[in-house]
Amino acid sequence: MSVFDNSEYDNHEQVLFCRDAETGLFAIIAIHDTTLGPAAGGCRMWPYATVDDAVFDVLRLSRAMSYKNALAGLPLGGGKAVIIGDPFKDKNEKLLTSFARFIQRLGGQYYTAEDVGIGVKDVEVFAKTSDYVFGLKKTGDPSPFTALGCFHGMRAAVKHKFGRDTLKGLTVAVQGVGKVGQFVCKKLHEAGAGLIVTDVNQEAVAHVMKNYGAKAVAPGEIYSQEADIFSPCAMGGVLNDNTIPQLKACIVAGSANNQLAEARHGKMLHDRGILYAPDYVINAGGMLNASGDIFGKYDVNEVMKKISGLYDATLKIFETAQAEGRLTFEVADELARQKIAAGKVSKK
Ligand code: NAD
Repeated sequence: MSVFDNSEYDNHEQVLFCRDAETGLFAIIAIHDTTLGPAAGGCRMWPYATVDDAVFDVLRLSRAMSYKNALAGLPLGGGKAVIIGDPFKDKNEKLLTSFARFIQRLGGQYYTAEDVGIGVKDVEVFAKTSDYVFGLKKTGDPSPFTALGCFHGMRAAVKHKFGRDTLKGLTVAVQGVGKVGQFVCKKLHEAGAGLIVTDVNQEAVAHVMKNYGAKAVAPGEIYSQEADIFSPCAMGGVLNDNTIPQLKACIVAGSANNQLAEARHGKMLHDRGILYAPDYVINAGGMLNASGDIFGKYDVNEVMKKISGLYDATLKIFETAQAEGRLTFEVADELARQKIAAGKVSKK
């Protein structure tokens, strides 16, 4: 299938297939839109079953970055990269360096960072070869900042759905307690919420059980838990025909990118009375923090202020959706597209 025929192709400006037979690198870089600034978004390493699967993922993720950066008020466009391979088996310095050479050749059209399968240490390797990386040691691990933004998004959802200012006494079912999920649990525990968690990694589960009093369930059981909020913090596509009917929670708010398997699942959630906090709106905290590396100035207090602002931004989306009888993710997408369109006009 050609890239242009892919269901996720959305007038992406550039899609680059990167191959280095010597190191085994096979990567794809997608630049969705650079109206507001250079494209920025992380690099994911994942053992995709097919190249088409990787293309689908990188197209979808890069568009979400355009929307995320636009709504977060950052002068950045959207891009993303995927390296096809198993991060536990195939990752090595030569392969990462080879990838960084492709980034460098783009001359600053795209800035890369960590994502699933690529950590801060790997980004430090990229930085030896490319000037166009962010999420480095200076700004630190973006995950706690992402988690904080998700927490504010959850607060906004609770305010809108229950008219409450606190999460105290509510129960949150967290799917995935990795880099972001464990910090989401920490914030929720401090706020007095009860936790039900799952992860395929038992060590990660043990950590949140011990430190935050979480109850653990098997991965397949997380959807049907008696909880007020379901928080997807693992992989995308988890809101689908199979899982939505199982949900007992009336709010979905988490960090995972591309949670809706398809757009129609946003409608399915709405029809079941479930309030959906658009993923890229509430998971922008890490980007707000790490972008300090791109701009060459970093003030953690400023970052924290912007992350707190995600509460109002999310609440506004809920209120607009309710007032206009629309879906929350549609309102968010439209706001982002309007910001990008305004950038196009001001450039003319
Ligand atoms: P991570 O890899 O550290 O954590 C993901 C966790 O999910 C892992 O512990 C993994 O074992 C678990 N998991 C995988 N499949 C699972 C399944 N089927 N059931 C239960 N658990 C499962 O990744 P992360 O950095 O915490 O990111 C989590 C999500 O948030 C990803 O979708 C990522 O794209 C998104 N995100 C992360 C950041 C960030 O700052 N790290 C920023 C924005 C968005």
